[in-house]
Amino acid sequence: MGSVQRAEMEQYLNQALAADRFKDYGPNGLQVEGRAEVRRLVSGVTASRALIEAAIADGADAILVHHGLFWRGQDGRLTGWLAERVRLLMAHGINLFAFHLPLDAHAEWGNNAQLGLQLGLAADARFGEQDLGFIGDGGGVPLQALARRVQDRLGRAPLVLPGDGRPLRRIAWCTGGAQGWFEAAIAAGADAFLTGEVSEPQAHLARETGVAFLACGHHATERYGAPALAAHVAERFGLQHRFIDIDNPA
Ligand SMILES: [Zn+2]
Repeated sequence: MGSVQRAEMEQYLNQALAADRFKDYGPNGLQVEGRAEVRRLVSGVTASRALIEAAIADGADAILVHHGLFWRGQDGRLTGWLAERVRLLMAHGINLFAFHLPLDAHAEWGNNAQLGLQLGLAADARFGEQDLGFIGDGGGVPLQALARRVQDRLGRAPLVLPGDGRPLRRIAWCTGGAQGWFEAAIAAGADAFLTGEVSEPQAHLARETGVAFLACGHHATERYGAPALAAHVAERFGLQHRFIDIDNPA
């Protein structure tokens, strides 16, 4: 097994994901600096305390996640639960890499691309802000068949807001909390839109536009990008890699 300098890994990741091209809600890339050399990499969805503790037990030098520690709207203080997460990372010399929107968007390792692979969907176009939404051929399947596929592949029954029962010729998707993009998906020609979460307005929009909406779980839809990217990086630099899934019903 090989190793890589943290700085080289940081540069490679930032470049591969075109991280500086995105307007985001938090800093992308290296969020917490640990030791200079990386041999063992752990990937996960969120830099929660449970994931950090599991990575420590695994002897990780770096953690790669989709949801990092720092978000717009925080007041900048390292106290309470946030202090505890940072303390654990720093005490064990673990580097934390986090990529939010750049990881949603990436055409190969991204959350949307990887969720598409899970569900047998391939995008032939993008829509929405920063081209983050994916849309492609649905093959005219009935909504029930798509819902069953989601349940089979993600291990979780989606919350389904039926549209007008039309066959699904165009299916749009965006992982995580993209319920606010339902209208953009409809405008892009979708017969169904699939995302992680749902809010109250989407039920009315589904009824009034005839376009179906499936809420498949924020965590459940964003479980695939970080391990795909980490596996690629591990292969490139000869690192050991383990994806640690911390269960989350939301
Ligand atoms: Zn997310």
